[in-house]
Formats: sequence, C-alpha cells, structure tokens
Amino acid sequence: MSLVVMKFGGTSVEDPAAITRTASIVAGRVALGKRPVVVVSALAKVTDQLLRAASAAATGDRTGALAISSRLRARHRDTAVALVKNSASLVSLIDEKFDSLDEILRGLAAILELTPRISDLIVSYGERISSRIVAEAFCDRGIAAVHVDAREIIRTDSQFQKAVPQDDLIEKRAAEKLRPLLDQGKVPVMGGFIGANEEGLTTTLGRGGSDFTGALIGGALSADAIEIWTDVDGIMTTDPRICPDALRVKVISFEEAAELAYFGAKVLHPATILPAVKKNIPVLVLNSRNPTNEGTRIISLAPHCKSPFKSIAVKKKLSIIDVVASRMLMTHGYLKEIFTIFDKYKCPVDMVSTSEVSVSLTVDSNDKLPAIAADLSQLADVKYEGKKALICLVGEDIRGQNGIAAQVFNAVRHINVRMISQGASEINMSFMIEEDDAEEAVRSLHAAFFKDPDPTIFDVEARKVLA
Ligand code: ASP
Ligand code: MG
Repeated sequence: MSLVVMKFGGTSVEDPAAITRTASIVAGRVALGKRPVVVVSALAKVTDQLLRAASAAATGDRTGALAISSRLRARHRDTAVALVKNSASLVSLIDEKFDSLDEILRGLAAILELTPRISDLIVSYGERISSRIVAEAFCDRGIAAVHVDAREIIRTDSQFQKAVPQDDLIEKRAAEKLRPLLDQGKVPVMGGFIGANEEGLTTTLGRGGSDFTGALIGGALSADAIEIWTDVDGIMTTDPRICPDALRVKVISFEEAAELAYFGAKVLHPATILPAVKKNIPVLVLNSRNPTNEGTRIISLAPHCKSPFKSIAVKKKLSIIDVVASRMLMTHGYLKEIFTIFDKYKCPVDMVSTSEVSVSLTVDSNDKLPAIAADLSQLADVKYEGKKALICLVGEDIRGQNGIAAQVFNAVRHINVRMISQGASEINMSFMIEEDDAEEAVRSLHAAFFKDPDPTIFDVEARKVLA
C-alpha cells in the first residue's frame, strides 16, 4: 500500500469550509487505498498574529497582546464548533491552550524581553491547536484520524526560530510512533513547523517550515510521495496575471524549482523539500481548491523538454549599483572590500557583473542604500538607481545549447537591457531591465518560448480550453 504525506498549508485549513474540503481530499486518498500522514499549518494568518501578540507583550502592551489572543481564541472556537458535532471537549481543550498562552503573554509583558525561545513557544500554539481541530474534524467525517504531537517526532537542535532537524532521531521516532498507527489503518494528523530539542523545549523550523516537516516525515518513513496542498494549481510557466495564457508546468526538476523560488515564485521553498529529494521521493504541489488538477511534480531528474525553458520569473523593486574605479578594480582584495560593505548592512546581493573598470551589483531596493553608497564612495565613484526588474528564465535544457542567448535577446530586442548574467547553475539566464518594461518583456519572452509547448511537460489542454 502506498504511503503518502499530505501537507496542508494555512489557506487549506483557514476556515470550516477549507477544513471540510481538506477532509474530503484525505478521505479520497484513503478510499484509493493509500495510507496518509497529514501535516497541517496553523490557520491562515495565525502565525503572523501570534508574532504580533508576542511583540506587543514584549513592548509592554499587555492589553493589545491579550486582545489579539482573545480574537484568535474566538476564531478557533468558532471553527471547532462549526466543524465538530460534539465539540465540548475540543472547545475546552482550545480554551486550555489559550489560557496558557495568555499566561505566557502576561509574563512577557512583565519581563519585557522576547527571546527566540519564548517566541517559538508562543508561535507554536498555531500548529498545536490547528492540528487538534483538523484531527477532530476528520474523525467527525469518518476518517480514522489520530492526533500526534509533532514535538514528539520532530527532534531538533536548540537554535530557536531556525532549528536544525536531527534526521536519525526523527526516523527512529517516526518508526516508533507513526508506523504502528499506519499499520492499524489510522491517519496520523500533526502540526507542521514545530519541533522540540533534547530537553523537550519547543522549537520551530523557520517561517514556512511546515513544508519542511512534510518532507522530513516523508523522508523518515520513506513515503511513496509527498503532497504539498496549497491554493494555486502548481508552478506556472510565468505569472498568470501578466500572461493569461501561462501554463501549468506538470513536471520540473528540484534544481529548476529552487532557481524559481529564489526569484520570488512563492509556491514553496525547495530547500525545505531537500530531505525528500535526497531520498528520491516525488513531491507534488496541489491545489486544495481545485483538487482534481494534477498540480506540479518536483523530481530530482526532470525529463527532457523540447523547449529550453520551463518558466520565466520576474523580480521587481530592485536597485542597481555601479561602482567605478579605473585603477583599483583588478587589484587584489577590492571585491572583498566591496562585499564587506554589503555584509555590514546585511544587504544580500542578487547579481554581480564586472568589467575592467566597474562592478555592477543588484540588490532589493531598501532604505540602507544611501548609507551603503556613502561607504562605497570611500573606495570609488558610486551611482545607484532604483525601479529595476530582473527577468529570470529557468530550464535544464539551456545547458550547453547554442544560440539560446540570441533567441532570448531577440525576443526582447525592443527593450533596453542593463545587465546580464548566466547563472552559475547553468540552468538560469537572467537580465536586468527597467521595472516599467518588465511586463512587456515577460509577455514577449513567453510568446517566443511557449508558442508550441511540449505536452509532456506543460498542461497544454488548459490552453485549448481557453482558446
Ligand atoms: N505557520 C507557519 C508559518 O506561517 C509555518 C507554515 O505554515 O509553513 O510560517
Ligand atoms: Mg507555506
């Protein structure tokens, strides 16, 4: 029987209707003879609100913090009552959790110091409570769900807020605690994102960490597949708001997905699915609002595609910084000095290009730029300009192909290109243009490269329906 980890993000459990949809998706898998382990996020926006409550308390705003908590309590209670017929014990469990959260917030408002450890404890309530509600809602709908506290399985080190999971221990615990449930035909339901260190203190895996939990559990149990349920149909050839004829990418390599995520495609953070990729477990991105759609399959080795690119990403709100020093550039240590300045301001650099006399760098537009420029001007002449956009084309099949660059720049020949780079990974080509030209550039490139899309890789059926 095939074992599948099903991870549902915040929008897939945001309210009673979403949780009901999620239950029928899981029931559908069970009916197919699959054995699911379910990992859920906090209800949509709850993590942000818990963090806001924590920082309010830490700045002495006790009333504000407790008001946020009381709104969250009401939302979770209402959700539970709407979903579960005999909800009294679930509601009192929710009340107990919120009582202890309030206790922590009051303490914090007295101590006025928010440590990463306390922050993790506070934020963990989101997943601890959502997983309880989802498990009960599943039981009410005939699924043999059993709630499992994620902290008993996801063992991590003690780096609060970005804890590193300990794979061996996780594997051992998954074998001890999840496997027997699965063997009895039960459906374990656990929260994502949270774990515990050696002393049993609550940790988190970093924002968006529920995907990571899904991959860790999938890896630990050597699952046959990991399903990441979200609210989009998967990875697209480009942003459908820019190109209404954008197509769903049916299958993509892990490396390609990683490049796209870096350039702002928000579907999931591929680093978090690494535990699955290492074990060759396919990861599927699926839409809980459109569950019959096949989604996008992320695998370690993508099949060959007839067109060079899988997807075009665009990243806006960038600035370009030109550092010009005719005599110094090629001297030893110069680039290091430049990067030391960016490091000092904790400002990540996206793209770098050098010539005999100048270095151009691109960064996210931010309010530290004047200070960075002032520091850089100690070394050389500096100019910076905002309102730039980076266009990034990703595809395994650009490796070693001749003439691709010519085709790309021919497609955008009417647009002024400021900076060019071919990614070190050999699977991306990016270039920088004015932000105002971004949409036009994406449309021209999409028209040029997705005119006759390969049906093994792209969902061309959807386009036929549109036409
Ligand atoms: N709830 C957590 C967050 O919002 C983890 C997740 O949903 O992946 O970051
Ligand atoms: Mg997420």
